[in-house]
Amino acid sequence: MSLHSYNTSVTDPIEFGGEPAEASARLTGSVRSLTEAEVDALGAICDTTTDAEDRVKHGRDWWPLSLSWSLQNQVPQIPFAVCRPKNTSEVSSLLAYCNENRIPVTPSAGRSGVCGAAIPLAGGVALDMTAMQGIESVDEISGIVEALAGTFGPDVEEGARKHGLTIGHYPQSVAISTVGGWVACRGAGQYSTRYGKIEEMVHALEVVLADGTVVHTGGAPAGAVGPDISQLILGSEGTLGVITRVWLRAHPLPEVERRGAYVFANLSDGFEACRRIYRSGATPAVLRLYDGAESKRSHGGDGTNATLLVLDEGTEAIIDATMSTVHDICMSMGATVGDVALVEAWTHHRNDTSGLQALTRKGFVVDTMEIAANWSLLDSIVEAVETAMLAVPYARTATCHLSHSYIEGACVYFTFAANPPAEEFEKTYLALWEAGQTAALRAGANLSHHHGIGYSRSQFMGEALGNGLNVLRAVKKALDPNNILNPGKLGL
Ligand SMILES: Cc1cc2nc3c(=O)[nH]c(=O)nc-3n(C[C@H](O)[C@H](O)[C@H](O)COP(=O)(O)OP(=O)(O)OC[C@H]3O[C@@H](n4cnc5c(N)ncnc54)[C@H](O)[C@@H]3O)c2cc1C
Repeated sequence: MSLHSYNTSVTDPIEFGGEPAEASARLTGSVRSLTEAEVDALGAICDTTTDAEDRVKHGRDWWPLSLSWSLQNQVPQIPFAVCRPKNTSEVSSLLAYCNENRIPVTPSAGRSGVCGAAIPLAGGVALDMTAMQGIESVDEISGIVEALAGTFGPDVEEGARKHGLTIGHYPQSVAISTVGGWVACRGAGQYSTRYGKIEEMVHALEVVLADGTVVHTGGAPAGAVGPDISQLILGSEGTLGVITRVWLRAHPLPEVERRGAYVFANLSDGFEACRRIYRSGATPAVLRLYDGAESKRSHGGDGTNATLLVLDEGTEAIIDATMSTVHDICMSMGATVGDVALVEAWTHHRNDTSGLQALTRKGFVVDTMEIAANWSLLDSIVEAVETAMLAVPYARTATCHLSHSYIEGACVYFTFAANPPAEEFEKTYLALWEAGQTAALRAGANLSHHHGIGYSRSQFMGEALGNGLNVLRAVKKALDPNNILNPGKLGL
C-alpha cells in the first residue's frame, strides 16, 4: 500500500463559520480557567500558549455533531491553555503540577476522534501530544518498533518499513491520527483481520499517571504477571494516564498481495460466508462485506446483492491457501465471482471523507456507528438497528457493512443520514443515536468496536457495562483521585 501521499499533521475537520479566534463554546458547564501565575508555571515546564485560535482548535475533534457547530463558529468547549510537552519528563512535571493545583488536563493528538473524546469539557489544559513524534528504536530480530506517542500513522509505518517490517495498522484516519490516539481509543485498522486491532499490536507502553509517576507496562510476548496493565490503559481515552511511548509488534514486509470480490444474494449469506471463512482458519487482511444499499452505491449492485471485498498479503503459500479457502467457501454459499477491480477502487478511495463534509454543509445529519457482536446475533442486530433508526423523523438512510472479523463474531459498521429542518438538526442527531445504539445494545451488541466512547457515547456506558462501570470508576478513583485527566469522558 502506498503511504507517500499522506500529510502527517493535525487536519481541520471542516471550516469555521467565522474567524476561528472568535469562535465560542457551545457546551455549558463549569470550566476551570487559569491564573496568570498558573500559565507562567506551565510555561516554565513546557511549550505553553493561550493563543485564541490555537485554543479554539483544541476545542473540537471530528465528532460529526460538532462539525455542524463549527459552521456556526462554535466549538464544543475551549481550553484555557494548550501545552506541548517534548518528552516524558515534561509530561510528568506538567501532570504533577496540574494534579497539585486541580487543573483539568485533556490529552489530545490528531484530534481525529469521532466521539468528542479530545474535547476539553472542563476547560483547563489541552495537552497536545504531537510535539512528541518519532521512531526511537527498532528491534529487527524480534520485530518491535518503539514510537513516541504523538507520531502520526504514516510515519510509524514508514519507520517500520525502513527496517523491512510492517505494523499493518491502517485506520481510515491513518494520516490524521497518532499511535497514542490509537492506543487510547482501542483503534482498528482496515487490515485488522490479519494484523489484529491495536490492543493485539502493543508490546509495551510508557504511561504517565495523574500525579506524574512514570509507569512501564508489558515488554514480553506474553505473561502471567497479574492482570495486564497495558490492557487497562488501552481504551482509557486519556482518563487514566498519558501514553508517552509505545512499543509495537511488527511483521515482515509482505511478499505478495492477492485480491478477490464476491457477490451474495443478500447480506445474511455474506455474513455466513465470512463466519465460515474466519472459523476455517483463513484470516485475509481485508474481509469487507457491504449490504445491498452500500453495494449499489459503491459497487453497482442491484440494491439487494451484498458485495464481499477480500485482500490479503504475506507469504505466498499462506496467502494463496487463504484466498483459495475464501473462494471455495464463497462458491459453496452460492456467491458469484465479482469484479476484482472493485478492490482496486476501494484501495484508492477508502480514506476519502469528502462526502461527510459536503453533506454536513448541506444540513444533513450524517454519522457512523460501529459495534461488535457474536455471529449468531448479526442478522437480528442489523434488522433492529436499521428499523429503529429509520423510525426517527427525517431519517433518510441506515446502511451497514461488516469490516472486521473474529473467531466468534464481527464488527458491523452502520452509516446513517437524515435531512431535518435546521431547527430540528440536533434533536434528530441525538434521536438517531439514541434509537440506534439502544437497539444495538438490547439486541446483544457491544457499545463500540473501535471508535470508543468519548463524550457522545458516555450516556450509554451504564447500560453497556452494568456493574462493570463501578469497577472502572474505582480504577479511575485510585489512579486519578482528583479527576484531572480528561474529566467527563467514558461515562466516568
Ligand atoms: C475520517 C475518519 C476515519 C476514521 N477511521 C478510523 C478507523 O478506521 N479505525 C479507528 O480505529 N478509528 C478511526 N477513526 C477514529 C480516530 O481516528 C481514532 O479514534 C484515532 O485512534 C484517534 O487518534 P488521534 O491521535 O486523532 O487522537 P485524538 O482524537 O486526539 O484523541 C482521542 C482520545 O485519545 C486520547 N489521547 C490521545 N493521545 C493520547 C495519549 N498520548 N495519551 C493518552 N490519551 C491520549 C484523547 O484524550 C482522547 O480521549 C476515524 C476518524 C476519522 C475522522
